[in-house]
Amino acid sequence: MPATPYLVTIDHLLDEEERLTWTAAREFCERRVAPLLEEHYERGTFPRELIPEFAEMGFLGASLQGYGCAGMNPVAYGLTMIELERQDSGIRSFCSVQSALVMWPIWAFGSDEQKQRWLPEMAKGTAIGGFGLTEPNAGSDPGSMRTHARQQGPNGDFVINGQKCWITNSPIADVLIVWAKTLLAGESEPTVRGFLVERGTPGLSTPETKGKLSLRASLTGEIVLDDVRVPARNLLPGVKGLKGPLNCLTQARYGIGWGAVGAAMSCYETARSYTLQREQFGRPLAGFQLSQQKLAGMHSGISKGLLLALHFGRIKHQDGKLDPTQVCMLKRDNVAMALDTARSARSMLGGNGIMGEYKIMRHLCNLETVFTYEGTHEVHTLAIGRALTGLNAFT
Ligand SMILES: Cc1cc2nc3c(=O)[nH]c(=O)nc-3n(C[C@H](O)[C@H](O)[C@H](O)COP(=O)(O)OP(=O)(O)OC[C@H]3O[C@@H](n4cnc5c(N)ncnc54)[C@H](O)[C@@H]3O)c2cc1C
Repeated sequence: MPATPYLVTIDHLLDEEERLTWTAAREFCERRVAPLLEEHYERGTFPRELIPEFAEMGFLGASLQGYGCAGMNPVAYGLTMIELERQDSGIRSFCSVQSALVMWPIWAFGSDEQKQRWLPEMAKGTAIGGFGLTEPNAGSDPGSMRTHARQQGPNGDFVINGQKCWITNSPIADVLIVWAKTLLAGESEPTVRGFLVERGTPGLSTPETKGKLSLRASLTGEIVLDDVRVPARNLLPGVKGLKGPLNCLTQARYGIGWGAVGAAMSCYETARSYTLQREQFGRPLAGFQLSQQKLAGMHSGISKGLLLALHFGRIKHQDGKLDPTQVCMLKRDNVAMALDTARSARSMLGGNGIMGEYKIMRHLCNLETVFTYEGTHEVHTLAIGRALTGLNAFT
């Protein structure tokens, strides 16, 4: 039997359109994204020149209907996430934030005016978005956020004060969805609401967070809000409470669950081909039992992760929604699998494993962030534990 990298494939389970989308995404990412990444990663810069091309490929708001978006089904969308993250988690993060964390809530919860104002431009990549939930004192527990919006004046404007940190794209964002507590007339308690805050609004600044050793080809920054006044029409009308941001995160986590498989594939394929060629003790490293144990473990993890993503993708396609805890599981398990795969693959290349040209070390560093953001591994474990037992271990 000739050697084959994968014993489990999903091509025969895809329809024609999904296959074409996957092939086109892979070809584009290999041709346009791959050559730029190593240098941007080293410099700590994001390849902004690719944004119009992402738009052309339909990657921005990929799963949304209308407004110039590609309207991909959940499986086709997931396959594009694999190819983006096969190159770099930071590139996938850019598309995830734009699509799932900013365009999706405007599409799902926004007014007609907000949709017309932002979605066509964001699909074209001429407007960039950021999602502001995390704060210096509110990470895993976003309900403890301090950012607040006070309604005042004859027009009912909102004045927002607070600080958000770790915000992907914030240094270049034209519009930021800021989640803030606000007490509206007739309500007894402050609730979390989403506000569209535009660059250039007085009192808004978005300083870049420097010094990251992970996700270096993605821009991260703060959102500082000092008496930022936004008109009442900038409130997202369609959702109240923490379920607003949490629903957005469920959309984004679904994409991460697919994307992580792409990072793992990249590491595994590199380790496999390297050890087939590299000889020590007179024969290829891939011929030693310890190497084969590592390859078999990586291959099993990738195969199962891909099948889980496809299974959940089909459910999402059929009825439009997955249980959020199923999405926690997809994100948690596939990211942990990808991180284990990257660590194992890194060791198989010996010294070369730390070199940029093989990409594994970049994936490994990136995946440490992916393990933590969009709900940490531990918090997803608790969400799954709560679903399995009915007992809440969070607090
Ligand atoms: C590069 C990067 C980009 C990001 N982009 C965005 C973005 O665009 N928008 C945004 O809003 N946020 C973003 N984040 C923030 C990210 O979502 C948070 O870092 C994450 O939610 C964890 O919050 P924290 O860092 O404050 O850690 P903490 O909440 O302080 O947690 C620290 C550790 O304690 C653990 N822990 C917490 N609570 C419990 C518990 N009950 N039981 C057991 N363990 C627990 C955590 O799992 C973690 O291991 C980004 C983060 C990074 C690093």
